[in-house]
Amino acid sequence: ETPPEPDYLARLNPEQKEVVRTTEGALLVLAGAGTGKTAALTARLAYLVETLKAWPSQILAVTFTNKAAREMQMRVGDLLGSQAENMPWLGTFHSIAAKMLRRHAELVGLKSDFIILDTDDQIRLLKQLIQGQGIDEKQWPAKQLAGIIDRWKNRGLTPDKIAGKEEDSFADGQGAALYLAYQKRLLSLNACDFGDLLLHMLVILTQHREVLDSYHDRFRYIMVDEYQDTNQAQYLWLRLLAQKNRNICCVGDDDQSIYSWRGAEVANILRFEEDFPGAKIIRLEHNYRSTPQILGAASGLITHNNARLGKTLWTERDQGEKVKIIGVWDGAEEARQLVADVQNLRRANIPLNKMAILIRAQFQSREFEDIFIAKNLPYRIIGGFRFYERAEIRDALAYLRVIAQPTDDLAFERIVNVPKRGIGKKAMEKLYQAAFLDRIPLAEAAEKLVSEKTLGSKITQSLGQLMNDFSEWRKSLSVVSHADVTRKMLDESGYKAMLRAVNDVQSAGRLENLTELARAMEEYDDLGSFLEHVSLVMDHENDPIDDKITLMTMHAAKGLEFDHVFLPGWEEGVFPSQRSLDEGGLNSLEEERRLAYVGITRAKKCCTIFHAANRRVYGQWIASTPSRFISELPDDHIEEKSLLRKKTPIWRDIWAEDRSKNPAYNSAKEAITPPWQLASRRGAGWQRAQKAAASPSPAVSHPLKKKDSPQYKIGDTVKHAKFGQGVVNEVDGDKVTVEFHDKDVGIRKLLSQFVSL
Ligand code: ATP
Ligand code: MG
Repeated sequence: ETPPEPDYLARLNPEQKEVVRTTEGALLVLAGAGTGKTAALTARLAYLVETLKAWPSQILAVTFTNKAAREMQMRVGDLLGSQAENMPWLGTFHSIAAKMLRRHAELVGLKSDFIILDTDDQIRLLKQLIQGQGIDEKQWPAKQLAGIIDRWKNRGLTPDKIAGKEEDSFADGQGAALYLAYQKRLLSLNACDFGDLLLHMLVILTQHREVLDSYHDRFRYIMVDEYQDTNQAQYLWLRLLAQKNRNICCVGDDDQSIYSWRGAEVANILRFEEDFPGAKIIRLEHNYRSTPQILGAASGLITHNNARLGKTLWTERDQGEKVKIIGVWDGAEEARQLVADVQNLRRANIPLNKMAILIRAQFQSREFEDIFIAKNLPYRIIGGFRFYERAEIRDALAYLRVIAQPTDDLAFERIVNVPKRGIGKKAMEKLYQAAFLDRIPLAEAAEKLVSEKTLGSKITQSLGQLMNDFSEWRKSLSVVSHADVTRKMLDESGYKAMLRAVNDVQSAGRLENLTELARAMEEYDDLGSFLEHVSLVMDHENDPIDDKITLMTMHAAKGLEFDHVFLPGWEEGVFPSQRSLDEGGLNSLEEERRLAYVGITRAKKCCTIFHAANRRVYGQWIASTPSRFISELPDDHIEEKSLLRKKTPIWRDIWAEDRSKNPAYNSAKEAITPPWQLASRRGAGWQRAQKAAASPSPAVSHPLKKKDSPQYKIGDTVKHAKFGQGVVNEVDGDKVTVEFHDKDVGIRKLLSQFVSL
């Protein structure tokens, strides 16, 4: 008699169970959004452990988000109780590769405590190398080279493998030489960039048989989620690791491939069967996530793509609401309308953490952040490196890096004169020289020059002070928590004072970010592990219990789900992005469409799409046209509403007409940019927008604009959502200067719309 199935198996459908039980050999699960791929993968991990096919530590599982990794971790923890040393290797490609590389760093000339550079550092380094070669950096920007090198790394190409046409791609054939110089420089700094994590591991695994053998012995089972977005280097890495045991299970959806701009190759799906002959393929078709309306809309949209394997999806859920499409006047109204919807849901007792706003580009987030703060609506921003990419955060991190590792030259360089300490170009040159001659890190050179007093008294004094401070902060690490050291450092270095002195609209936010940074650090055991986290962080979802609305990019939302999803900014030029339109070609447009598919399929119950008639993009007003993706949504599954007084373009009809006139549309040889779209972009609307952008009062005025920002008088007592109560002591247009009762907050200049009487 067979024992009853454990819970985690019993709830799965027969196909999912097959995924779980097919433990030996290569397995590819190819299925649409919300069909329970990740759920099946998680159950599979539990099954492997429970049936004693492997110890957790013999399993390697690559997830797309830290959240998915945590979920799997919990599942295994539940089964086994957490024994740290016997946990599976779970995480993103980057975090797993970093963990491996630390063990074998010396094989590629690094030390195990190597630092991981952020993009900013990377670019600064490349700039120095480019200029060092006497190349005009204006003509050949470091950023471009960074992109080229990244692509090489994503394809698993080390400098010696760059040949022929590739070489010509930068500064008339100097790309490969610069790449080589860059790699050397990184080694001398005991540093690597993101791409290196995998690239170095590839080199190690191919050149050191014993290392590869040890991983073959270790990893009996390999599993990969979101397989459609693996790049070449990741694919090669997986293939090497799976070569011997061949127990590899990859799950993915070709319709959700959205990272080709970062080197991902859908072709890896097709190659799978070649590299693992006899691989089993399982398809899942039952969608458990979304209502038929949402699924119908998303499926209808994606059929406009040609390059796809094609699949059917069905759901047993109730019909649900149609996808709502709302036209508004401009970005501000979009934000107001969206927040009104959110408030309505809230009144119906729907928690905020069941809602998400998914944007195409980071610039869209500001408008929402503003209104969230004004309305006191708790929110969290997830995605990419946003928080950690802010200048003030990067400066603070640079300080922390020097504290953690005095040899970190890049970090030292970044902050040695921030705030200003009178250390100019000349002094820096002396530092570089001393460091170079003695082959010592910059910080050490600084100590040396200070003690030798070779820098002029003022500089010697201020630099000496800084070096003293650094050693004090370092010492206090053993006495107080690293978060407290950070707070101390931010005060004593004069960094906060510098921001306070600026006292503009942004500085308050910047100071808050720094407070948030110290708070975030408390969640980590020590400074080292925090810095490691920062350099690896892909998404910093905080604890899920917090009731906050989520704001993130569609890219970062992959794999996640929410009851209510809001999709703002569906306009030509925003989504699909201007870049994808400029590049033309079917590929980039199809990738945008897949992104739209990802966006819609995050929704379980409701999906609302917004488009605005006017949009300020990077400081310029643009009269915009609704996204073509809206017109591609099947009529049966959508419900349109325009909040504009006069219904602007009957664009759906225009699109339909455009399509019928162009037989090419269906064969889709090329994406069509309709002439009227160009006209509206560059014609009268464009010129008006240009003028509006140039003149202080926007010519594109708001027909429904609510009354202007509230007016305050000196002496008024006002309240701010974050800072509490205070008294107005200056009024300057739409800005007010408020002295807050809370001494820590002090005096601040704010937009008056953020305070209330
Ligand atoms: P995506 O392509 O977006 O990553 P996915 O295929 O990984 O989606 P999951 O996130 O695993 O899908 O599952 C979607 C939802 O369906 C989740 O809420 C999950 O708990 C639920 N689910 C999965 N399988 C089942 C099942 N057999 N019965 C009921 N619910 C299920
Ligand atoms: Mg998934």
